[in-house]
Amino acid sequence: MIIFFGPAGSGKSLQGQILAARQGWAWISTGQLLRESADIELLEIMKKGQLVPDEKMNSIVKEALDRVPNTRTVILDGYPRKIDQARWLINNHLINGHSDDLIIVIDVPNDIVIKRLTGRGRADDKIETIKERLRIYHQENDAIIDYLTDNGVKIIHVDGSGKVGQIHDTLMEELSACKAV
Ligand code: AMP
Repeated sequence: MIIFFGPAGSGKSLQGQILAARQGWAWISTGQLLRESADIELLEIMKKGQLVPDEKMNSIVKEALDRVPNTRTVILDGYPRKIDQARWLINNHLINGHSDDLIIVIDVPNDIVIKRLTGRGRADDKIETIKERLRIYHQENDAIIDYLTDNGVKIIHVDGSGKVGQIHDTLMEELSACKAV
């Protein structure tokens, strides 16, 4: 399992989808699953930039993982966003330092994220919502990444401030250097 981390606007979804297409892996995005949901309550939480409760989120992820042929060749995007979600992955043996378990962090400075997102036009891309999402991302992320690496999961950092093709090339170089592709 590969988990992509990066703030909204880091390009992580595009990079994850390109990688999944190239490798024939599954790509599961919790943001996309939620946007497709008909649950008004969930859609309201998203609009405010807040997080969906863990129990609800975990069951949505479980359903999605139940549909893939092999959880070892899955790219997760947007999950885990809370330490308890990361614990859920470890406790269910979905990630735990198998040779093909990997965290990819796409690093982009806040000012570039804000500039990119204000041009995107999605319902939850208002400036206040963007700032709230960035605050939550930075608040939770370090602890989650530390927790997963403490459990033996390898980690790669990629500079996401350049162009899509350039970022993909850097990512592929990093992945082949650690024999993940
Ligand atoms: P994203 O497309 O990843 O930026 O997610 C959009 C929104 O969906 C987030 O701002 C949250 O409201 C919700 N969401 C996505 N993934 C999660 C998660 N793992 N836990 C809780 N809420 C989530």
